[in-house]
Amino acid sequence: MKIFCVGRNYVDHAKELNNPVPDQPLIFMKPSTALLQNNQDFVYPEFSKEIHYEGEIVIRISKTGKNIALEEAHQYFNQIAFGFDFTARDIQSQLKQKGQPWEIAKGFDGSAAIGGFLSFNSSLSDNNHFETYKNGKQVQNGNTNEMIFSYSDIIVYLSKFFTLEAGDIIFTGTPKGVGKVEKGDVLEGVIDGRKVLSCTII
Ligand code: ZN
Repeated sequence: MKIFCVGRNYVDHAKELNNPVPDQPLIFMKPSTALLQNNQDFVYPEFSKEIHYEGEIVIRISKTGKNIALEEAHQYFNQIAFGFDFTARDIQSQLKQKGQPWEIAKGFDGSAAIGGFLSFNSSLSDNNHFETYKNGKQVQNGNTNEMIFSYSDIIVYLSKFFTLEAGDIIFTGTPKGVGKVEKGDVLEGVIDGRKVLSCTII
């Protein structure tokens, strides 16, 4: 099972971190040991002083595919979930400055929290409203129709390089409003008005 992530897929988030808006999807991966499921607590790691939440829609691949055509891409996923792409922003910033890979800042244990999967109604394609709440206050509010690269665009692009397999998941990017977490914070993820993920930082 593979965990793919798309960086800078919302213009307003790319701008808040002073990053350029990409002309093709920016892809990175997390290992399966990054997964945090069933509303498990996130254990704040000792190696960072600046862990950020990034609330994202996650899609789940439903069958094997390679070099998938755009018209067929919607047939390759059938479930969505809310996810937090936890990021050690201090470490990521140092690595970015040196032009080095991000893995340790993005793929550490527990860095991929996901809620339960919902069946995906293809008529709602790229029109999922989602929100992040921190300690009961809304901090992110996005809609997947604002993505630079749609679910299908991402699947087409990924499948040029990687064979997609049933069970692989894709974090599709975060809107603006990312921020720090502290021990004791409670993060919640909402899709289309429904709370689908809760994660306490310990
Ligand atoms: Zn992200």
